[in-house]
Amino acid sequence: MKSKLPNIGQTIFTVMSQLAQNENAINLSQGFPGFDCDPELQELVTYYMRKGYNQYAPMSGMPLLREAIAEKTRKTLTIEIDAEAEITVTSGATEALFAAITAVVRSGDEVILFEPAYDSYQPAIELSGGIPVFIPLTMPDFSVDWDLVKSKVNDKTRLIIVNTPHNPSGYVWTSNDLDQLAGIVAHKPIYLISDEVYEHIVFDEKQHLSLLTHPQLREKSFVCSSFGKTFHITGWKVGYCIAPQSLSAEFRKVHQYLTFSTSTPMQLAIAEYLETKDRYLELSAFYQNKRDLFCEGLKQTGFKFTAAQGSFFQMVEFGHLTDLSDYELAVKLTREAKVASIPISVFYQNQTDPKMLRFCFAKSDQELERALNQLISYKLKG
Ligand code: PMP
Ligand code: GLN
Repeated sequence: MKSKLPNIGQTIFTVMSQLAQNENAINLSQGFPGFDCDPELQELVTYYMRKGYNQYAPMSGMPLLREAIAEKTRKTLTIEIDAEAEITVTSGATEALFAAITAVVRSGDEVILFEPAYDSYQPAIELSGGIPVFIPLTMPDFSVDWDLVKSKVNDKTRLIIVNTPHNPSGYVWTSNDLDQLAGIVAHKPIYLISDEVYEHIVFDEKQHLSLLTHPQLREKSFVCSSFGKTFHITGWKVGYCIAPQSLSAEFRKVHQYLTFSTSTPMQLAIAEYLETKDRYLELSAFYQNKRDLFCEGLKQTGFKFTAAQGSFFQMVEFGHLTDLSDYELAVKLTREAKVASIPISVFYQNQTDPKMLRFCFAKSDQELERALNQLISYKLKG
């Protein structure tokens, strides 16, 4: 069969996780927590299953969960969201992103995205006949070059996809970024998708600035997030999309035929958990300790790095240590130092190799310490 996605193979997350398993290496590649979620949350799922909540949920999500998301948004961003009309529960952020892209993009439309870019955006754009327009983020902090963005916007631009806190760099958008974006899209038929799955993982003096907080951006935005990151449940695949009523209506037309609805007992469990637990408020401090522990150890490895501003990823530079490509080094470290990472070139369309690796520090302190010891004792040079 002639492929609709000829250049797409297995994702690097699957490739590196598989290699880590085969090599018996510590897996700091694919981004998922290495520890379990709260047993209370697990018990709530069992409770709702036993109570008989085992059939389809309403298409747009269980009302209790949508109310709980509205309440969380009220608490964290001090804004009002209409739970009935503006929130749709999805099967992970992946589904939310796919549905939003499909709802907006028509054949020939241009979609601006920033690279390094998370890998699920491009295939979704291409399956809708859209043309991805990649704009490189500016090294070393991976901030946005707004003059470059202005120069790429034209009559065909229909959508801009942003991601804050950013995977893989951890860059967190500033209020200037929001204002610049608002200036560019004002009075133009351009929509926005904001991937905010790391919304509750932001460090130091930084603050997560959702596109929802900016009135001009909010009216054009699909804001996508996930409970996978927030409650250590990446395997549950429960996410959501917040968008104005008219955009949510179009989003739901796609969601209705993509998955129709999301696991009922999981939605009810998360809804009840959100009512009584403000766990997401403690998440930044929890991960900041892990980032600090990891960065302290990294100082002895020879890698260069700047501590991540957000997300549960830490990038490192290695160009001064070896001429290997990032992919070669990631494989070599998995095989020889027994620590798996993600090469950054995979987040670039033309496999640009900035000579950087990404490590996931969402692991127990003991596992992080073991990984660091293995990286420190491994001779990177030569
Ligand atoms: N966006 C980004 C930036 C991610 O890192 C991830 C996955 N970790 C997703 C979307 C997908 O989220 P989910 O697992 O909820 O589908
Ligand atoms: N988002 C995760 C990461 O960046 C991976 C998710 C996946 O495996 N598709 O590592």
